[in-house]
Amino acid sequence: METYQVIALIGVIIFIYFIFFKNKNSAQKEINSLSEIEYTGSSTMTFDDVAGNHEAKQSLLELVDFIKNPQKYSKFNVRMPKGILLYGEPGTGKTLMAKALAGEAGVPFYAVSGSDFVQVYAGLGSGRIRNLFRKAKKSGKSVIFIDEIDAIGKKRAAGNIKGSDEGDRTLNALLTEMSGFAEDSGTVVVAATNRIDTLDEALLRPGRFDRQIEIMLPDKNARKEIIQLYLKKKKAEDVDIDELADLTVYFSGAMIENLINEAALTAIRENSDRITGSHIKKAYLDVLAGVEKKDFDNERQKTVTSYHEAGHTFVSRHLLPENKIIRVSVIPTSKGAGGYTLSTPEAEEVITKKKIRNHMCVLMAGRVAEEVFLGRENITAGAQNDIEKVTSLAIEYVAKYGMNDEAFINYQILSDKLRIPLTSVESSVKKLTSEIYEEVKKIVEENKETIEKIARLLIDREVIYQDELDDLIQKYS
Ligand code: ADP
Ligand code: ZN
Repeated sequence: METYQVIALIGVIIFIYFIFFKNKNSAQKEINSLSEIEYTGSSTMTFDDVAGNHEAKQSLLELVDFIKNPQKYSKFNVRMPKGILLYGEPGTGKTLMAKALAGEAGVPFYAVSGSDFVQVYAGLGSGRIRNLFRKAKKSGKSVIFIDEIDAIGKKRAAGNIKGSDEGDRTLNALLTEMSGFAEDSGTVVVAATNRIDTLDEALLRPGRFDRQIEIMLPDKNARKEIIQLYLKKKKAEDVDIDELADLTVYFSGAMIENLINEAALTAIRENSDRITGSHIKKAYLDVLAGVEKKDFDNERQKTVTSYHEAGHTFVSRHLLPENKIIRVSVIPTSKGAGGYTLSTPEAEEVITKKKIRNHMCVLMAGRVAEEVFLGRENITAGAQNDIEKVTSLAIEYVAKYGMNDEAFINYQILSDKLRIPLTSVESSVKKLTSEIYEEVKKIVEENKETIEKIARLLIDREVIYQDELDDLIQKYS
């Protein structure tokens, strides 16, 4: 071989070596970063840190004893679940509960999230699962927590039997690991999802996640407990807990925690040494409606918004008098709204046909008022959010609750089972919304004078409350 050939050959070898190692190195890096499993040592959380959710807590309490004394159960040949699936809306405390389980049992807590497994290099997902279980096994007993398990164990789409290979490998690794550890090892796998309907059935079979516990949005009593729990941790006085529990209907635990935290920040900003009812009210408005931007001077915008909100407000008092108006504002907010009408939320009551229709009326009234007072050509994009909500409600009315007159049908099931597109819903939804639009138009036209007065008051004052509003309505109708 000539010298130059040797040099060329060495060059090629170095070149290949670099390409190979560069890839290997970045893959290795990826493995390392992906294997950062959250390990909290022994969790210090207890079930006292979780408010409400009594049934779920009861169910998990049984497992505490199992983790502590697994032999007691195996001696009697009692099969305890290896996997527990907590399902329910985001922020309802599923992670918190898994941590509390580890804390009560006094064992380490290992956590990963299913979403971290999406789009990883081939083989990494399954490797990471094995890594997780290996680490957990080393500490003897433990609680292994897998958040967002739906990202790994998604049902294969209809017709697509193969699914994604990598997703399958990750899921299979999980199932293998779960059947691999002994029943009396004192290890429990807790998974969480807010989409149980999308989970692959393989995950739910016996010996896998065969205990499923629903974690629901807190009811009024649970909301009171959550409010008390977080107020206790901060200094507070003059907070009407009962009223706040009413105002926070449909809030998750996380939303309530956030609200109280915002109130505490407001208190600090005002140099107050405790949280009061007024800090809570301010935080409530900021959380729900967005922070009001004080510096606005667009008169045209304010006029349009005033008519728009006057429409919502009047129709709300007219059709849903039981919902109190908390505040009407035409000051733009940080959430991008030009203004807002905030009323007390509906208590958890029976959903009636009348109620849904009335709600749709109130939502449409903003746009209708713009049209009636400013002309069809001058309607604005300010109704975008209202339109979204009305459309969702109309779809539920027609397709989910079967409330339109011609059909007693759940269209989702119809379309799933028969594999047909949902076109027939569209015309029913359109018909319903235009019917309601006409109803609202009639109400607004018949009460034009009153609504005009409300709008003028808003232009003048920017913010109004229920008392002034009701005085005005009484005077003019
Ligand atoms: P999830 O896992 O269901 O999405 P998290 O457990 O992450 O919800 O909840 C987020 C936060 O919300 C918790 O850290 C806690 O501060 C608060 N939280 C939620 N539910 C509750 C509850 N039932 N009791 C006390 N705090 C709660
Ligand atoms: Zn509106």
